[in-house]
Amino acid sequence: MSELKCACPDCQCDVNPQQVFNHDGEACCSQACAEQHPNGEPCPAPDCHCERSGKNGGPDVNGN
Ligand SMILES: [Zn+2]
Ligand SMILES: [Zn+2]
Ligand SMILES: [Zn+2]
Repeated sequence: MSELKCACPDCQCDVNPQQVFNHDGEACCSQACAEQHPNGEPCPAPDCHCERSGKNGGPDVNGN
């Protein structure tokens, strides 16, 4: 039992052992995660929104 979790901080996807995207020696589930969503590329998993984390500046969380 050696499940691989994506190295993307907010990603909870399992890494497909047959399709590992390497990022600094860490396994990611997708190229987007491996590149840390530089352009906001979404995670291939429909339930995962890890691309929304790691960047601040979300106007929806600004309560003044
Ligand atoms: Zn993800
Ligand atoms: Zn991922
Ligand atoms: Zn990700």
